[in-house]
Amino acid sequence: MTGKTIYLDNNATTAVAPEVLEEMLPYLKDAYGNPSSMHTFGGRLHKKLDEARERVAALIHAEPEEIVFTSCGTESDNTAIMSALESWPTRRHVVTTRVEHPAVLNFGKHLARKGYRVTFLPVDSLGRLDLDAFHAALDEDVAVVSIMYANNETGVFFPVELLGQTLRTRDIVFHTDTVQAVGKIPIDVRRLPVDMVSISGHKLHAPKGVGALYVRKGTRFSPYIIGGHQEHSRRGGTENLASIIGFGKACELAGHHLHQEQTEVAALRDRLESELVRDCPGAAVIGDTSRRLPNTSNIGFEFVEGEAILLRLDEYGICASSGSACTSGSLEPSHVLRAMGVPFTRMHGSVRLSLSRYTTEAEIDQVIGVFPGIIRELRALSPYGR
Ligand SMILES: *Cc1c(COP(=O)(O)O)cnc(C)c1O
Repeated sequence: MTGKTIYLDNNATTAVAPEVLEEMLPYLKDAYGNPSSMHTFGGRLHKKLDEARERVAALIHAEPEEIVFTSCGTESDNTAIMSALESWPTRRHVVTTRVEHPAVLNFGKHLARKGYRVTFLPVDSLGRLDLDAFHAALDEDVAVVSIMYANNETGVFFPVELLGQTLRTRDIVFHTDTVQAVGKIPIDVRRLPVDMVSISGHKLHAPKGVGALYVRKGTRFSPYIIGGHQEHSRRGGTENLASIIGFGKACELAGHHLHQEQTEVAALRDRLESELVRDCPGAAVIGDTSRRLPNTSNIGFEFVEGEAILLRLDEYGICASSGSACTSGSLEPSHVLRAMGVPFTRMHGSVRLSLSRYTTEAEIDQVIGVFPGIIRELRALSPYGR
């Protein structure tokens, strides 16, 4: 992190923890061998691969053999869904939601174009899953249900445990994208009735370009990346060893900091959020505040453009993200906020603030100090605001 940057965009990516980088460096320098090699120079690296696998497994209470390393969260998501479809070839129905990350949402749209039936379940105005629609979607033809654990834009949780119990009785493969949840809240696959779980390194202070898919023992599996015998023939490709080692270290650290995420980080987020809502005209929290990630706040500011807020925040070195993305000149609001039916004027002024264990009290004070002034200024320019 350079100079005075205040980084509140941790749901987009996180800083690599110093301990993680330290642990990786030897494997980018002298220890560059291939863990699959017969000679000791490469072969001894297999131990490091095993150690990383144990560390990733430990964070979610899995067995090491249940962890398949991938190149990212997106690959894990694609692999899980495709594996279920290949394993149950007579079933042609995929059930997911309207608020998934593009790694699932756009893969679902791709499958629909390929002739699969794909149901995108709706959510309510607080971002909560429509359970009636979930039950109604479950027919004999469902090969896989893929529903995220926590939403990346709002932080809102889905009742994965409850959904899994239903799916167990119907013998339907259940995949959940836990990319935003792992490392922020306890995830225990011994108690979660799920078959596959996606994790991404760069959302929990490991580098970009490494992820994992948990595949429960006994789950039918079909590889997505086909090649060599790496990962017990579940994912071809020479292992990204340094990043995997860093990922393992990041998971170990995340385990040590889980309590801090749920207490200190949550307290900072709550203070930031409540002061902004109090001091900024026309501000309201978006999403169910009673069940969401401890680090995430999504606030809608009426009659202000989210992108304008981001540009002004940027002048103070504050990094956040907005619910609207400027694509080809037209402001296209986020699919998540649209699915929630957030009013137009609030949706366009939505800002996501996502903290990490590196966020300090002083940084939050600074943000609280400048934010209300920015909103008042921008509203004064708006033809609708006062
Ligand atoms: C970031 C993210 C992904 C994608 O992970 P990558 O490693 O960037 O491919 C998938 N799902 C969710 C919920 C995410 O936040």
